[in-house]
Amino acid sequence: MSVMPEIFGSMVFNDSVMKARLPKDTYKAFKKSIAESKPLSLEVANVIANAMKDWAVEKGVTHFTHWFQPMTGITAEKHDGFISPKDDGTVIMEFSGKELIKGEPDASSFPSGGLRATFEARGYTAWDPTSYAFIKEGVLCIPTAFCSYTGQVLDKKTPLLRSMECMSKEAMRLLKLFGSDAKFVNTTVGAEQEYFLVDSALYNKRKDLMFTGRTLFGAKPPKGQEMEDHYFGAIKPRVKAYMQDLDNELYKLGILAKTEHNEVAPAQHELAPIFATTNVASDHNQLMMELMKKVALRHGMNCLLHEKPFAGVNGSGKHNNWSISTDQGENLLDPGKTPWENKQFLTFLCAVIKAVDEYQDLLRVSVASAGNDHRLGANEAPPAIVSMFIGDELADILDSIEKGVPYVPHEKITMDTGAHVLPNFTRDTTDRNRTSPFAFTGNKFEFRMLGSTFSIAGPNIILNTIVADEIGQFADELEGAADFDAAVDALIARTIREHKRIIFNGNNYSDAWVQEAKKRGLLNLKSTPEALPYFASRKNIELFEKHGIFTETEVVSRCEILLETYNKTINIEALTMLEMVKRDILPAVSAFGKTLAETIVAKKSVGAEIPVAAETEMLKRVSTLLECLAKKSAALESAMLGVCDFEDAEAMAKYYHDTVIMAMQEVRMVVDELEVVTAGEYWPYPTYGDLLFKV
Ligand code: ADP
Ligand code: MG
Repeated sequence: MSVMPEIFGSMVFNDSVMKARLPKDTYKAFKKSIAESKPLSLEVANVIANAMKDWAVEKGVTHFTHWFQPMTGITAEKHDGFISPKDDGTVIMEFSGKELIKGEPDASSFPSGGLRATFEARGYTAWDPTSYAFIKEGVLCIPTAFCSYTGQVLDKKTPLLRSMECMSKEAMRLLKLFGSDAKFVNTTVGAEQEYFLVDSALYNKRKDLMFTGRTLFGAKPPKGQEMEDHYFGAIKPRVKAYMQDLDNELYKLGILAKTEHNEVAPAQHELAPIFATTNVASDHNQLMMELMKKVALRHGMNCLLHEKPFAGVNGSGKHNNWSISTDQGENLLDPGKTPWENKQFLTFLCAVIKAVDEYQDLLRVSVASAGNDHRLGANEAPPAIVSMFIGDELADILDSIEKGVPYVPHEKITMDTGAHVLPNFTRDTTDRNRTSPFAFTGNKFEFRMLGSTFSIAGPNIILNTIVADEIGQFADELEGAADFDAAVDALIARTIREHKRIIFNGNNYSDAWVQEAKKRGLLNLKSTPEALPYFASRKNIELFEKHGIFTETEVVSRCEILLETYNKTINIEALTMLEMVKRDILPAVSAFGKTLAETIVAKKSVGAEIPVAAETEMLKRVSTLLECLAKKSAALESAMLGVCDFEDAEAMAKYYHDTVIMAMQEVRMVVDELEVVTAGEYWPYPTYGDLLFKV
């Protein structure tokens, strides 16, 4: 670890490299353009590009790519060489400012939700200078935004940057009223990432894992997660070696991987980086997911990022820790020691409360996917109902402001552990709440509904935009106030009165909460097809247009892409299921039945005194289930034929959800029963026990 400072960021063209390699004027011009959010001149870009190329070439790099984030949710790159021919038959390595700033990938094969016809193939990528260039697998990667020929956004980075700018603009208005001399604000994010590791030899035997990222079949193993012995448990040597290797790769890219531990389910783990500015955190999370998969392969394992790789054990999510801070490093969501006196904090807190209440639908939409449908609402992850936890202390403070009575602070309780060698410490004024979808955790909010495969860009676009909008509304009101302090108090009291229904500090997993939430009029959008249409409601389109995040057409196209992705996902799962049943499971079970039948005949031929009741019972059970499976898979097949009746993506999604998924569940039930009555040597796939425990 002594070489850590040398490794860290060694593959990143970061600030210190720029300072060392760029002429002073260029460096200054670069910093100025970032601070003022203004584009760079081509002259400056040329100098930077050249320095970038020299730095990369010294590290053996020959190609560069504009690295972007299309709506597929993963990243895309197209490599170009630095090499350029000279008249004398030799070559030089070249990289111009123009190539740095702008790229022109063919956009026709990326999802656009009907925004662009295939013949309008042109798309542009534009350098995002707020995220450093880096070297990945010998290629210089330039983080870029991606848009169509007509300027419509086709990616996740552009709207994220827009939403951050919007937050800065609105938050600065409010901060000025509180006397702040900050110049801009940034939103910050730390994304905790959960994942599973399985042995590659086993993974390669499971078509479902290969094609869909999750197991479509699998009987419950004798041991699951019931002993709760995996959570924070000692890490197996093979996994430890993987984590170290992964950390090393992440460090090279300047990603501060910080905590890692075993999660609740066997073979499940978590990695959390130290938080960063939102767009950097988003780029880093994409890189992290890519590297998690690649490094696992080196260790003979596959990394599963799917939200629900295994039924019956916990799925994987991503916790999006989010806050807002100024250029001077002040965290606007830090309550300080006496939050009841911190009106600025309480105002920002109220903006978040109002935003979460008014835009429950958008937050829910931002975490909707076929994979995440397996988690939300299934007793392990937050429910599909959006609510927020703020803890007892803040709840009491807001309550007293609402009622207009003085707040009496909670006394700090000293914890006495009873063992005198241990230090005494004061207890936090609030316990943690692990069940809330949106929890205040001391100086930030933790949005816990994200699925593990998600790009964090989507949820953060929403979060930034909705909170910025409320902050802007507060600023409108307070800017005109005659008595600022009184106006702030009135604003806080009113916000609490009108929006406290969104605050829930109890157990979000309980049925009682579902009932209570219904009474409070909160949305409970249980599935993706139910949630997605809310994206394009009038209220939401107006919000996005007001802040210049998306145009109406862009919202509609995004909604379309999300619905199509849902439909394609279920389609692939259903087809994989049918293939596994028809080609592997039915023949395997039939062969096992034949063996049983032959055994019965053979035994009987020895003499009537040899009992065959056990084999006969087994054969009966296996044969009955086999018949049943043939029927259920035929039913799934005919359900799939019904998909052709729909042209509209929304109606089709409903059909997939209501009809196809139901038929899939029926098939699975029979297969899982068959797995436990079929001899192991006949069963065509590694079992849950193998997958979860043989790492
Ligand atoms: P948990 O208790 O939920 O497991 P962790 O300590 O694993 O929490 O992760 C907390 C995450 O929150 C880390 O990624 C951390 O860097 C991040 N974080 C801390 N402060 C902030 C902040 N001000 N803004 C955004 N993220 C933050
Ligand atoms: Mg967490």
